[in-house]
Amino acid sequence: MSQKLCVKCRTGMGVFNRQYSGETLCKRCFLSSIEEKTQKTINKFSMLRHEDRVAVAVSGGKDSLSLLYVLTQLFERSHRAPPIAITVDEGIRNYRDESLAIVKEFCANLNIENKVISYKELYGRGMDEAMLERPSSKMSSCSICGTFRRRAIDLAAECVNANVIATAHNLDDQLQTFMINMMAGDIQRIGWTYPGPSTPRYHNLKKIKPFCEIYEREIVFYALQRNIPFQTEDCPYMDESIRTQIREFINTLETRRPGIKYNLYNSVLKISKNLRNIPTDISPQRCQECGHVSTSRICSVCKTTSILQKDHL
Ligand SMILES: [Zn+2]
Ligand SMILES: [Zn+2]
Repeated sequence: MSQKLCVKCRTGMGVFNRQYSGETLCKRCFLSSIEEKTQKTINKFSMLRHEDRVAVAVSGGKDSLSLLYVLTQLFERSHRAPPIAITVDEGIRNYRDESLAIVKEFCANLNIENKVISYKELYGRGMDEAMLERPSSKMSSCSICGTFRRRAIDLAAECVNANVIATAHNLDDQLQTFMINMMAGDIQRIGWTYPGPSTPRYHNLKKIKPFCEIYEREIVFYALQRNIPFQTEDCPYMDESIRTQIREFINTLETRRPGIKYNLYNSVLKISKNLRNIPTDISPQRCQECGHVSTSRICSVCKTTSILQKDHL
């Protein structure tokens, strides 16, 4: 079988077949298509103003390192201040140590600041300790970690004076989150997934997802083509959640009907846009324990740490 020529430049050899559009692209055109798409998404949802200081939450996986790389390129071209990488050390021996080293080296090569913040310094315990303390049936590892991580990223961003946090959620992540919230009957959360500028009701940090219109498969390919050294090992505490099942289900549909993810994404966009402004009776307040902005009297971080402590005593 002879290799096809790139449909864009008509000179390069095709290396990537974009099934939903039928395009075959060469390496150069594929890489620039991802960078252009990211810039388009940023513009489409007015994600950034020129004076914004952007922190990227970087775990060491393919998505976050690719996002850091792409934003660094885009910011350089538009004469913006470079992004800052924020990495959370959850205190998971071996697993996190490897990715911290990858991120550190990657940032040094890009000449980017890397701020590392740990659960141990913030909450007095890392995930390894929390897993020993937790009441096994009551809390999933991912829910403890998710609660801790969101707060850690917010605090790290404040620490480096960033007012925007960019996360590497891709189109597949958006679809999975939508389906999970649908199945949980959580309409309010569906509104929160809209990628447009969220009016920061609780604090001054703006959250953006510049990869939200890009298939996960294309980001993996981007990372490989750019020789981005990412961590491939899964977290040892990852629970086999409904997310994995939904991911497989949507991937199977996409294989049989290329483009179905895009159609679903467009529906998600319209639905979440309509739901994001539904009035809520929750008003922001200060947590009585730690003073952080919270939607309830005691914030979720303080609730989690008190459960862990209680069970341990
Ligand atoms: Zn080309
Ligand atoms: Zn609190």
